[in-house]
Amino acid sequence: MTSDFMEGTGMTMQLRCSCGAVKGEMDTRRAYTRATCYCKDCRAYARFLGKPGVLDASGGTDVVATSPARVRFTEGFENIACMSLSPKGLLRWYASCCRTPLGNTSRDAKMPYVGLVTACFDAAPEAVSQAFGPAGRVVINTKSATAPVNATPLGFITGGLGILGGMIGARLRGDRDTPFFDASGRPLREPEVISREQRAALEQEQ
Ligand SMILES: [Zn+2]
Ligand SMILES: [Zn+2]
Repeated sequence: MTSDFMEGTGMTMQLRCSCGAVKGEMDTRRAYTRATCYCKDCRAYARFLGKPGVLDASGGTDVVATSPARVRFTEGFENIACMSLSPKGLLRWYASCCRTPLGNTSRDAKMPYVGLVTACFDAAPEAVSQAFGPAGRVVINTKSATAPVNATPLGFITGGLGILGGMIGARLRGDRDTPFFDASGRPLREPEVISREQRAALEQEQ
């Protein structure tokens, strides 16, 4: 794995599913942005998992976007599972032991993007805010929120530029490591693609 990890420097965020079987860590340096996504897909995913506490009061998911090269799993690898809401949709990774969401990636192994769901961060909310800024500063897809959300255009732009700039930087640095794909670019798990009907049902759930 990447030798670039800042071990013991306080620049790592511990990852842990709620039952503790899956553990990992993230190098917090150069994280792209922290954002809350209110899109229907992220919400359908949270409902698929059925894990309480993932969605905020307006149906949003708190995510920290970064390069997959900055993430590694250290325990419970066999419990890592993958689903997708459609045949071409994002790969949504989770801990199957307790259905804790882990993160979302592209289907393209070369895309230097993972949106880690902060529900898998093993840290107090203040520590997460200290590392990545407060929740709710960048909000996206607010039109599909289940309750009104204060959209901040500047936050949206900053967040978008953070992701774009971060991904370009990761490409330039040649970040190729990813814990989600093998060397040939195949996802480490065959994604479970749910049916259209199941997806529609999840989107309609209150
Ligand atoms: Zn677990
Ligand atoms: Zn979303």
